[in-house]
Amino acid sequence: MGVTQHIRYQGVEGLRAGRFNRGVNTAVTCYRLGTTLIDSGSANCWPQVRSFVQEQPLRQLLLTHHHEDHSGNAARIQQLTGARVLADTQALQPLADGWRLQPYQHLLFGRPQKLVAEPVPERIELDNGYRLQAIATPGHAADLICYLEAEQGWLFTGDLFVSERTRFLRQGEDLGEQLRSLKKILDHDFKTIFCAHRGLVKDGKSALSAKLKNLETLCEQSHELRRQGLSLSRITHRLLGPENLVSLITGYQFTKRNLIRACLRL
Ligand SMILES: [Zn+2]
Repeated sequence: MGVTQHIRYQGVEGLRAGRFNRGVNTAVTCYRLGTTLIDSGSANCWPQVRSFVQEQPLRQLLLTHHHEDHSGNAARIQQLTGARVLADTQALQPLADGWRLQPYQHLLFGRPQKLVAEPVPERIELDNGYRLQAIATPGHAADLICYLEAEQGWLFTGDLFVSERTRFLRQGEDLGEQLRSLKKILDHDFKTIFCAHRGLVKDGKSALSAKLKNLETLCEQSHELRRQGLSLSRITHRLLGPENLVSLITGYQFTKRNLIRACLRL
């Protein structure tokens, strides 16, 4: 029922693990560059993540953002290895105090333990000569950071990408910020993206560019239909079809209607 998959690409290793592999893709990937880990997977995949982490010494864990499918094992990894955990300053409080999870988040990912993390610096030198730049890319979450290895052309995107065609918006996501973050990241040079949910995307810059364009088109189409007098429900149905399993499972936290509503507000 669950999924565990190992990834190896150039100097990057990855572990993709998820509780379910049917209907909805809930697998999350953490990536390793030598003694540095980016994201920690979901708490209910701790046995797989622990084996992966124990393969070699770990010095630091960089989080892309605080969400439970990315920080789920951070506290356990800190206890197991003594690694420092680094994240955006806005992630530190939820990581330390916890936050309210929706029932679907419990079911799909499990609850992370609380931990004390440190603010991530803008430049991070890794043991093996790689250099990462932390780039703030808010929108999906206020504390979302992408990590860029400019020389290798790698970008670790957390949840900035996920899909070329955005069909749902999570409650609390800021679409305007997301669009600004996509434009900001596209100003940088990179080729390959390492997405927490999609995995390796070799032509990553084109894929991110396509995502931005698709969202801009969706906004234009939403406004055009609004000018024609259509209601929010009808515009949503016309452009994205009916809500589906994703909306249902997430208790309508992720909906197509949220996305169109956000488009109409821009
Ligand atoms: Zn997220």
